[in-house]
Amino acid sequence: MFQKILIANRGEIACRVIDTCRKMGVATVAVYSDADRAARHVAMADEAVHLGGPAPADSYLRGDAIIRAALDTGAEAIHPGYGFLSENPDFVDAVEAAGLVFIGPSAKAIRAMGLKDAAKALMEKAGVPVVPGYHGDNQDAGHLAKQAERIGYPVLIKAVAGGGGKGMRRVDDAKDFADALASAQGEARTAFGNPDVLIEKYILQPRHIEVQVFGDGVRAVHLFERDCSLQRRHQKVIEEAPAPDMPPEIRKIMGAAAVRAAEAINYKGAGTIEFIVDGSDGLREDGFWFMEMNTRLQVEHPVTELITGVDLVEWQLRVASGEALPAKQGDLHIRGHAFEARLYAEDVPAGFLPATGTLAHLQFPDAARIETGVRPGDTISPWYDPMIAKVVTYGPTRAIALRALETALVDTEVAGSVTNVDFLIALTRHEGFRKGEVDTGLIGRDLDDLVAAAEPDPRAVALGVVGLAGLADPQSRGGVTLWQPLRRTVSWDGGEAVLEVQGPGAARVTLGDGTAHEVRWQGDRWWVDGALRRNRIVTHDAGVSVFGGRSLTLVPRDPLDVDTSGAGGDALTLSPMPGLVKSVHVEAGQAVKAGDRLAVLEAMKMEHSLTAARDGVVAEVLAAAGDQVEAGAPLIRLEEEEAAA
Ligand code: ADP
Ligand code: ADP
Ligand code: MG
Repeated sequence: MFQKILIANRGEIACRVIDTCRKMGVATVAVYSDADRAARHVAMADEAVHLGGPAPADSYLRGDAIIRAALDTGAEAIHPGYGFLSENPDFVDAVEAAGLVFIGPSAKAIRAMGLKDAAKALMEKAGVPVVPGYHGDNQDAGHLAKQAERIGYPVLIKAVAGGGGKGMRRVDDAKDFADALASAQGEARTAFGNPDVLIEKYILQPRHIEVQVFGDGVRAVHLFERDCSLQRRHQKVIEEAPAPDMPPEIRKIMGAAAVRAAEAINYKGAGTIEFIVDGSDGLREDGFWFMEMNTRLQVEHPVTELITGVDLVEWQLRVASGEALPAKQGDLHIRGHAFEARLYAEDVPAGFLPATGTLAHLQFPDAARIETGVRPGDTISPWYDPMIAKVVTYGPTRAIALRALETALVDTEVAGSVTNVDFLIALTRHEGFRKGEVDTGLIGRDLDDLVAAAEPDPRAVALGVVGLAGLADPQSRGGVTLWQPLRRTVSWDGGEAVLEVQGPGAARVTLGDGTAHEVRWQGDRWWVDGALRRNRIVTHDAGVSVFGGRSLTLVPRDPLDVDTSGAGGDALTLSPMPGLVKSVHVEAGQAVKAGDRLAVLEAMKMEHSLTAARDGVVAEVLAAAGDQVEAGAPLIRLEEEEAAA
């Protein structure tokens, strides 16, 4: 076993790897950017090496600096985590050339699976079913249109170099094919530097079922499947293992196909074979097809660990250090059921915009397995994936594990940034999901209801007002109340209410819209309008939060705050969210029409076009491609209307 390894990553996955290293007595070296000096993964590691600026290109993607750090600290091996350099074969070559071990597959195996078209061709040869479609070299638009016709609509255009749901377009009708092709190719060129696409039959009522594999370079085993069908815009939201309603014989067949795929490329380490499954008529032997292989540890690996009892990071370290495969297929069994929910800093009602902020309060339930890279007081910065934590639960049955997930999410307390927690809770209560009727369209179909459940609840606001008035803390409230005015106005960022104390343990709160709510309390139990709530009211540095489903934070209004909303009018285009300016499409002096694309912003692995609010002439371009911008940053200014006329 290694004495010391370096972890070339950040956030929850770096912490996750360090956890196992500690258990195994392996010393750890963390690396970090300027934005991560005080990060949890740095504090957890035995040593830490600074890499450079906050942009990934200046830090976590600097393979040379990372290899130097490993050599300088005497680390023998590098664990890449996921994302960043984990699937970069040139990095693997460089690691090995430096005399270090890469904890993962060979550069050759990564290259074989790096492009989706070549991977599909290889899998066909290995006898693994692939999605019917076209994955040839001819990229002529006319030829591709003909192929789409032959495959039969609907089809899915996919960037061969794609990842993270980018560069994909569903096309339902031949007349839309040319436009969709051009936009998929454009997105693929900017995101991956490779415009090539393949075309697949779009599977109706699809389920995403993936098989965890593990190889030693010659032989491989599988650790059963995960169902990742709960997706929003092709990105996973909640994952589970095993897949609901998986017949044992289909599990065997899919597992065997995944093992064939891994052995065909002499796979070493942890990998995932993703299948798309036709869920319209149960899970069938002829109803699953290879989509792609992810040649790394997957974000959702904990659900597999919980149902198999295997520590996949431990296996990674053991096999990378030269040990044989830790188990034979026959030794591996499924016990129980597990779920993982991805808790993100994002504004769901505003369209799932990524959010930032300093976590004034952060508390997780003891009853769940929590994978996180942040602590109370840490900042979610615009530089990296805004995932706050993965909330993972286990139970002897699917129903019990799902109930545990719901409870764990209700008991998760985050203040200082908005989160998707209410959306996740609503999903755990979704009737179809509860029954195990999952497909990748579920979230999209019921999006309005799921998002509505994440909108502020006036009864929670009423509780927040009581908290802002200083009545929430059982210790201080008794004596103080007597000295407080019985009727007063409470204001916070975004609202105002009138609170009237009506006696010990009772108040009436009239919200801005005129609706009134009766709040009563006893110890830390709360009733609103006569109904007992399971809310908790927490006071912290940033204000007062109400937790326990439909959570919210009220920030007391600072009279010095200046309202900047609408300051720019329609002349100024502001960044709607923190993100990276991918490209700017106009220059000063240029005339634009309402709706013209001014710039493209990348955030949450998606690209967003920013368009002109009206006709006009560009006065000033305030951002350049490559800039990392905060929400509200001015990007483009148009000349005032009089001047433009
Ligand atoms: P998974 O199936 O594990 O969710 P994804 O492709 O969604 O796989 O991505 C896994 C991780 O890889 C993400 O959380 C992110 O950190 C990283 N990642 C994926 N795509 C990109 C990308 N285009 N740019 C940067 N990081 C990415
Ligand atoms: P990425 O590399 O971006 O993860 P994938 O090829 O894994 O790309 O596809 C991402 C998601 O898109 C899948 O999880 C699935 O929801 C959907 N998808 C992919 N291929 C198809 C298909 N042929 N038919 C229907 N949905 C698909
Ligand atoms: Mg995928």
